Amino acid sequence: MASSQEWQDKAACREVAVEMFFPPAEQESEVAKAVCSNCTVRQPCLDFAIAEGERFGIWGGLTTQERRTVAVKQRKTSLAAASEPLAPFYLG
Ligand code: SF4
Repeated sequence: MASSQEWQDKAACREVAVEMFFPPAEQESEVAKAVCSNCTVRQPCLDFAIAEGERFGIWGGLTTQERRTVAVKQRKTSLAAASEPLAPFYLG
């Protein structure tokens, strides 16, 4: 999760093994999601992952497929999204 985003300094996942956030199957993401549930920067983390089209791992407490669902809903309901292109990954 390399970036210069300020919120990352407050990330709860800084204290745990990063591998936890990249489980071999999305069904094995519950431990990472538990860490995210207590993270104070969950929303900016999720926003970042969606904006960047992060294709792997748990971000903002959501799996890749869950983020895709959120991104599609945001695109359909947000007038602002109409003027900003969605990361190509989420359109597939
Ligand atoms: S929401 Fe989860 S992945 Fe994002 S910074 Fe917090 S603990 Fe890390």
